[in-house]
Amino acid sequence: VPTVSVFGIPFCKFGMQDTVSYLTEIVSSGRPHQIITANPIMVMAAKEDPAYKKMMQQADLIVPDGTGVVWAAKIGGDPLTERVPGFDLLHELMKQGERRRWKVYLLGSAPEVIQEAARRLTLQYPDTEIVGFRDGYFGPDQDQEVIDAIVQASPDLLFVARGADTQEPWIAKHKAALSVPIIMGVGGSFDVISG
Ligand code: UDP
Repeated sequence: VPTVSVFGIPFCKFGMQDTVSYLTEIVSSGRPHQIITANPIMVMAAKEDPAYKKMMQQADLIVPDGTGVVWAAKIGGDPLTERVPGFDLLHELMKQGERRRWKVYLLGSAPEVIQEAARRLTLQYPDTEIVGFRDGYFGPDQDQEVIDAIVQASPDLLFVARGADTQEPWIAKHKAALSVPIIMGVGGSFDVISG
């Protein structure tokens, strides 16, 4: 994957369509991948916190979710194609899932939010099967139980919404155990989808 470094974070150069094509290949591979849709706040967090930076650098794909990142790359002389917003990427993957009969698990947000988000996504993308969902308010003592439920459901995509400082390190830590081809943090997306 061609990348551009922005403050030491390797951003994928692909635009939305190429990103979706690449992620479609990844689903076929079956191996777990962490996708980070990074905004300038996350880039700055990485600048301040070496552990967060290392975690980001070990992600399988980092896409530019934010005009600030696209702008910084342009100033740096090695431009990115376009912004690839996480919210739009979520919808593009749900759309792709309809054609390919993907299974999806939704993790995060408050219980009533995730339930309503699952209901609305099912209405919008009936052929992308939501094989499970649960809220994002659980502690480390419940990690194993949450992971077991996801592994049992065996999804192709796992969207995680627990706040940027929590969700990306959680995904990085449990990526291998989760063993889902595409694991992506989606921040406040379920709040928006549930209305
Ligand atoms: N969230 C969660 N568990 C937590 C903290 C947050 O599920 O322990 C959810 C929250 O309900 C929201 C999403 O994560 O749907 C993003 O939260 P927030 O906007 O506070 O985080 P930010 O992205 O601003 O860091």
